[in-house]
Amino acid sequence: MSKRILIVEDSRAFRNYLHSLLSDAGYEVYTAESIKEAEIILAEKHDFLCAVLDYCLPDGQDGEIVDIVLKHNYKAIVLTAMFQEEIREKVIAKGVLDYILKDSMASVSYLLPLVKRLTNNKEHKALVVDDSMVVRKHISQLLEDQYITVIQAEDGQQAIDILEKDSDVTFVITDHDMPIKDGISMIREIRTKYDKNDLAILGLSGSDDRTMTARYLKAGANDFLHKPFNQEEFFCRVHQILDMKEANSNLYRMANQDALTGLWNRRYLFHHLDNQVVQQNIAMLDIDFFKKVNDNYGHDGGDAALITLSHILKIYFSDDVVVRFGGEEFCIQSNNPTDEFLTRLEHMRVRIENTIIPHLETEISITVSIGVSNIEADLDSQIKLADDRLYQAKEGGRNQIVSQ
Ligand code: GH3
Ligand code: MG
Ligand code: MG
Repeated sequence: MSKRILIVEDSRAFRNYLHSLLSDAGYEVYTAESIKEAEIILAEKHDFLCAVLDYCLPDGQDGEIVDIVLKHNYKAIVLTAMFQEEIREKVIAKGVLDYILKDSMASVSYLLPLVKRLTNNKEHKALVVDDSMVVRKHISQLLEDQYITVIQAEDGQQAIDILEKDSDVTFVITDHDMPIKDGISMIREIRTKYDKNDLAILGLSGSDDRTMTARYLKAGANDFLHKPFNQEEFFCRVHQILDMKEANSNLYRMANQDALTGLWNRRYLFHHLDNQVVQQNIAMLDIDFFKKVNDNYGHDGGDAALITLSHILKIYFSDDVVVRFGGEEFCIQSNNPTDEFLTRLEHMRVRIENTIIPHLETEISITVSIGVSNIEADLDSQIKLADDRLYQAKEGGRNQIVSQ
């Protein structure tokens, strides 16, 4: 994904400030001080994420640079020295992403979050629900202009059917008055399955009914906006919803993921799989004589071995739940046929045995012992049985699988 940004600004101090702000944040920044310079860059470099443009430049004082950049199909963020309603309307109408007042360095602090938002937007997929095709198209266009993928539904029921099949949707923007199923009934239904953190919803309504906001929020919408809306307010709401969603998924990841290996942790396993009685495969895996790895190669050597082992686990069990259970112990949960699961485990055991883990100047080798259960029982009992079998594998000489 492109992290390239073009800055066109004639004030050297301001240009340098923007340059360091954005490059410190990891963007690949190109700067120009005039239209002439910008055109040379645009001819040579391609695939910009966006351009940050001074409205008034020495060789074009009336926003000419904006048209040039838009003609190249890039997103433009415009900087203006003073707030003039006339200019604001003009640049928004041209189809720029946003404008920022250059009145102080502080006001530009809005730029970095905006650019980051644009980068992260590529991870989002919106479902736009409205019975009016014109409105659907308008909203979709606004979102697509910000790199958000959009799909559409004509009424609440169609939206629910789509959500059923498409798990990539991260947020929903919905109208209320629609045939078959209205927005509020749809939200109530969605909320029986997804909470506000799983799936954000922005409610829209053109009705004059003053109780609408409360009804939407009580039904479970994250936010509400009257139609017709001001484009800037729309984006502020959408950005807020997405910021919140991302903060929440980061928290979720921090709470459920193991920091060293990136695998799920034990908390995730017990949350993700409820303790109902089911038949499933559970494997408990433990590195053999891992203490010696730490003794011989240091704690960093031990960590390198844990990371390599996690990569291998992810490769062999990409469809399954792979968890770092604690220390050098891992758990795999799988619903695949048991013989297939056992064959895969055996292939992985051999692969681990034959893997050389480079560390500093040396090479580390490890083996693992594995215990497997496939009984119909609750998770605790399945783990206990797999753990007993793991112990047998250790007793039996290590580097082996015990499954009965
Ligand atoms: P066995 O074959 O019986 O499993 O022997 P073992 O030495 O692997 O087992 P033991 O449980 O006695 O030792 C596990 C070691 O794993 C002890 C602990 O210091 C180390 N360990 C646990 N977590 C980490 C970690 O995150 N990094 C490193 N480097 N070592 C860890
Ligand atoms: Mg061990
Ligand atoms: Mg152990």
